[in-house]
Amino acid sequence: MYEIRTVGDPVLRETCRDVTSFDAGLRRLAKDMLEIMDEAEGIGLAASQIGVLKRLIVCRDPDTDQAFSFVNPAIVERSQEEIMGSEGCLSVPGFSVEVPRAEWVVMEACDVQGRPLRVEAKDTFARVLQHEIDHLSGCLILDRTSAEERRRVLKVIRDRTLAS
Ligand code: ZN
Repeated sequence: MYEIRTVGDPVLRETCRDVTSFDAGLRRLAKDMLEIMDEAEGIGLAASQIGVLKRLIVCRDPDTDQAFSFVNPAIVERSQEEIMGSEGCLSVPGFSVEVPRAEWVVMEACDVQGRPLRVEAKDTFARVLQHEIDHLSGCLILDRTSAEERRRVLKVIRDRTLAS
């Protein structure tokens, strides 16, 4: 079965490939990912976080709790304005760091049936989408936060590894 990969696992740095066949396997993967996300009490998960290099993300709209699967997602418009906010990541367990994100975004994607979608999101949902789409190109919150924050987190992770 799948497990959530954590920082240090090289798969998190890989670039995911476009999904080209919208088949039962894809729907199954999206369903599995939603279960894994909910079990881990996350609000978003990218396929690379479970070691699958496909452009697929799942998430919940934090305002409505509605679950979504987005295939081949891409941000096509974003606000110039960026706001700082605290973010965690299931692949960087136990930490939250301050990350600047566009206040609103427009995303184009497909659903698991291959039907095109256009989603306008703001505030926390926009943050979730930007975070998950970052994963598809191997980008983590540690790359987006300040150098001090990154050093702080990596030091704790190193100390934990040495202690275990
Ligand atoms: Zn993440």
